[in-house]
Amino acid sequence: MAEPLVAWSPAYELAWPNHVFPTAKYRLVHEALRAAGLADRDVATPGPIARDELLRVHTRRHVEEIERLTADPARVVQRFEIPLSRAVVDAVLHHCEGTRIAVEQALVRGAALSLGGGFHHAFPDRGEGFCFYNDVAIALAAARAGGRLERAVVVDVDLHQGNGTAGAFAGDDAIATYSIHQEDLYPLPKAKSTLDVGLPGGSGDRPYLAALQETLPGFLDAHAAPLLLYVAGADPFEADRLGDLRLSRDGLRRRDAFVLEEAERRGMAVAAVLAGGYPPRVEDVVAIHVDLWQALRRFAAERR
Ligand SMILES: [Zn+2]
Repeated sequence: MAEPLVAWSPAYELAWPNHVFPTAKYRLVHEALRAAGLADRDVATPGPIARDELLRVHTRRHVEEIERLTADPARVVQRFEIPLSRAVVDAVLHHCEGTRIAVEQALVRGAALSLGGGFHHAFPDRGEGFCFYNDVAIALAAARAGGRLERAVVVDVDLHQGNGTAGAFAGDDAIATYSIHQEDLYPLPKAKSTLDVGLPGGSGDRPYLAALQETLPGFLDAHAAPLLLYVAGADPFEADRLGDLRLSRDGLRRRDAFVLEEAERRGMAVAAVLAGGYPPRVEDVVAIHVDLWQALRRFAAERR
């Protein structure tokens, strides 16, 4: 039975001391998966992505600006609400390669997960919201350029709208983007995804899951594709410090199960990335991401 391929590198870990983003989660999720039985044969270790792959999505001007800002490896500049440095750029290049591998391997195995990525606020020509290179867009562009993929859908359930991804694929009929998010939060104004489902703060499990169940099946039917790229943000969680969608851990499990069941029903492959998650206790965000891996294992088993 094929297990999901898991992409992870120790180089994913970012040094953002005292930042709301718990960057140790990448290492901790990997450790938790190993403890739960993740085997060597199911792990790929990405290196940094090639510059040419960035340039399939991002403007040369944007890439050169990032390179200029970080030309001195000792320099740290505040950009995109993060302390940007050469080390941070290098880590993100590994995340981008991990997402690229996850897409490539999902098309082979049926399911793959990068224990990072989901930098969905990066636009082709600019960064914002902790993001400057959009691994989701880069991975899909790479698969299309390699002739392995003609169509795909992005299903983004992070608390925040996937505005950068929507911007990257605006006017592109081959990639349809779905985003379910909290409406009255960053990014404001919103970009236009193929389908946006904006929910009020304080929603909780029942209205959230009802909205997902009402809108996702029709979206997947209207945009049939062999691959679903799942941006599985943990920040709709009830204890999250950045948002107020108030999903319980069980609600998040049901969210993931529903998305994967809908993919399975249509014979789609799934590549998943972690994206956001900002609870006070890092154990909570780790547990939510581990739940996602377990759901993907069940998906991979049932898909065969
Ligand atoms: Zn988010």
